[in-house]
Amino acid sequence: MKEQAATFTAKSTVKAPDREHRRKINFNMARYNAVVPQGKSQFANLVNARERAKNIKWQAIETLDKQLETFEANITKRGANVLWAETADDALDEILKICEAKRCRTIVKSKSMATEELHLNKFLQQHGIESVETDLGEYIQQLDDEPPYHIVTPAMHKSKEDVARLFADKLGTAPNLSPGELTLVARQKLREKYTQAEIGITGANFIIADIGGIALTENEGNGRLSCAWPKTHIVIVGLEKVLPSVNDLALFWPLLSTFGTGQKVTSYNSIVTGPRKKDEVDGPEEMYVILLDNGRTNILANEKTRESLYCIRCGACLNACPVYKNIGGHTYGTTYSGPIGSVITPHLKEMGDWKHLSYASSLCGNCTEVCPVRINLHELLLDNRQEAVAEKHTSFGERAAWQFWKQAMLHRSLMNIGPGSMKSWMVNTFVKEWKQGHDAIQFPKKSFNQLWREQQNKNG
Ligand code: SF4
Repeated sequence: MKEQAATFTAKSTVKAPDREHRRKINFNMARYNAVVPQGKSQFANLVNARERAKNIKWQAIETLDKQLETFEANITKRGANVLWAETADDALDEILKICEAKRCRTIVKSKSMATEELHLNKFLQQHGIESVETDLGEYIQQLDDEPPYHIVTPAMHKSKEDVARLFADKLGTAPNLSPGELTLVARQKLREKYTQAEIGITGANFIIADIGGIALTENEGNGRLSCAWPKTHIVIVGLEKVLPSVNDLALFWPLLSTFGTGQKVTSYNSIVTGPRKKDEVDGPEEMYVILLDNGRTNILANEKTRESLYCIRCGACLNACPVYKNIGGHTYGTTYSGPIGSVITPHLKEMGDWKHLSYASSLCGNCTEVCPVRINLHELLLDNRQEAVAEKHTSFGERAAWQFWKQAMLHRSLMNIGPGSMKSWMVNTFVKEWKQGHDAIQFPKKSFNQLWREQQNKNG
């Protein structure tokens, strides 16, 4: 078994029976489940809205090259710089060059999964630059030296008591502060950082091609501060996040907020179309947009998996997934967890190393059911399995076992060889991994075939 698969299995084995973990996740997911219907109530016809969203993303992805060039041409006209990064290292090189040119020592950063892909904070730290997360959930995770647990709610697995203890430990606050008091502590610490930061880094929820802008969605106002307060604003965004028109936001903003947090619309929605103009009083002096590929064009080239690029990172499929709820976000060992993470990670990284995620699914289809852009997630997981087999990312033992099974299934005479006790011994002895998570298999003494014949004989 590959190292990643072995780690995944080991972590899952520990996490799945952890009742305290389940209690916290169930508590937070119950709150999410309670509010989503309120968000959905704003759509006169939600089925049509989702179909339309899928259609718009289909159009955007099928014409991705043109959309991105249009975006680049439009935003460049207003003074922004667009940089294309094929790999994570390319993106990091560009960021470092900008930091060095600005003699940057402190960065304020808003929530961005693309920067998690780059392991940006660690990289900056290695170069003597402090990068401070300003989203409260991300700030909590950074204090605890943990990656985000969930793509929308990074600290979902922590209770308010856990956070109070963490703040007491790392910031010296009283150990029993309320959530409101904890937020004020974070706010005060972060405000200081905004005044020191030379650069602000944000992600983008959408790239708007026709006006040449990026759209940011958030609930705390920290994204706005991160892009507007420091003199330089860097945006790092996956190149699939494109929408053809600014008018599409009328659909995508409420869709994202409904499926992401259950809100009708998120508190702060900003469109940034370039650095500060001469007659404007605030905003950054310079703006850079880094369009990140990092494996996305592998997905684009794959006709089956391409539709996973429609994802708007709402997190709904994570919340709906029985596997995610049992094993938790960190067990996946990837930037993107849950069903969408299991679909895209083998293509963003290596199929051979990450194919095991395609099996982290009950194939119940709940992920597909809840996806606002109707990505066929559970079928894509099956496609990944098929691709892994076709590319021979399987062991000799596995291939031989399936050949044997296939022949047995095709030939009744092979199935009838030996008594049930022998079959039980064989399966329980050789299929060790199955046995770890299940009761031993006991074949009946008589096969169905024997019982059928006996019945037929009785009936004359
Ligand atoms: S795959 Fe669909 S449900 Fe999952 S995060 Fe993306 S948009 Fe949301």
